[in-house]
Amino acid sequence: MGYALKETKYRYRAYTENGTWQKGFLTEDKNISIHEGSNVFHYGQALFEGLKAYKTKDGDVQLFRPDLNYIRINEGLKRIVAPELPEELFFEAIEEVVRANKDDIPEYGDGKSLYIRPFVIGQGMNLGVKPSEEYLFSVFCAPVGTYFKGGLAALDFVTTDYDRAAANGTGKVKVAGNYAASLYPRQQAIDAGYAGVIYLDPLTHSKIDEVGAANFFAVTHDNVLVTPKSSSILPSITKRSILYIAEHMLGMKVEERDAHIDNLDEFKEAGACGTAAIITPIGSITHKGKKTIFGDGETVGEVTKKLYDTLVKIYYGDMEAPEGWIRKVL
Ligand SMILES: *Cc1c(COP(=O)(O)O)cnc(C)c1O
Repeated sequence: MGYALKETKYRYRAYTENGTWQKGFLTEDKNISIHEGSNVFHYGQALFEGLKAYKTKDGDVQLFRPDLNYIRINEGLKRIVAPELPEELFFEAIEEVVRANKDDIPEYGDGKSLYIRPFVIGQGMNLGVKPSEEYLFSVFCAPVGTYFKGGLAALDFVTTDYDRAAANGTGKVKVAGNYAASLYPRQQAIDAGYAGVIYLDPLTHSKIDEVGAANFFAVTHDNVLVTPKSSSILPSITKRSILYIAEHMLGMKVEERDAHIDNLDEFKEAGACGTAAIITPIGSITHKGKKTIFGDGETVGEVTKKLYDTLVKIYYGDMEAPEGWIRKVL
């Protein structure tokens, strides 16, 4: 089951009719039976999202910035020529799934949450390479702990010569194929004893793009928070939130600019961020046999720890969130 701690009972499904999304329903059926000629099997017309529901100290259940997942899923659907989702359908699906599985939402206090996975696939007989005529939108969920083992221990990463996406390809959207392309370099990194892989920008291979399925950030020696800018990076909601927290809550300077792989010494801290990874400190990056260590290489740095603490307090309702960041479900 990997990252999931258990399976949950209910999921939501909705289908298109003549290209228009219809109201969906909850079901206990985990299996999807679709035509062998479905686009999703052959041409990868598939897209997903990932967000979490968190239980607060008072027992409320809340989502973190789901409006941004909604915007992003529709940007992705446009990119794969699938019908965009109406806002009511997107939120109804997520909220019904969270409510229906409320007994499986982890309790406040030990860093667990309910991971929610919306996805859209093109289905129905479709042998030519063209968009599907029928689509499924589904949402399921599972309680999860932390994504990278080790909590806030710093982990070691290695660069790869492979690309997860092309410069003007689909890196910006959560299209299934990007992740198929990432499995081999990930496996190579893990077999070599690393926690994961660092992707460089596909055009020049000289700047950091991403950390596996998480965004990269780093802190310079004079306390500037840096995140890379590139056309092939998935625009992480966690990354955008960290930039805001650093600038507006921690009073830091922030820069979205290149992080050159040959100039990593400019950083005293580095990390990976994403809904699943939350914030994972990077202890070292190895590139072409040269290892750059951040801080002591093992423990979380001061700024990374502050970002993590602030973000997690907001997730679990222990700190007031910036306007519009929290949506209560229960
Ligand atoms: C989902 C994802 C992220 C993290 O995005 P969040 O919105 O913060 O969860 C980063 N990189 C890739 C490649 C992703 O698929």
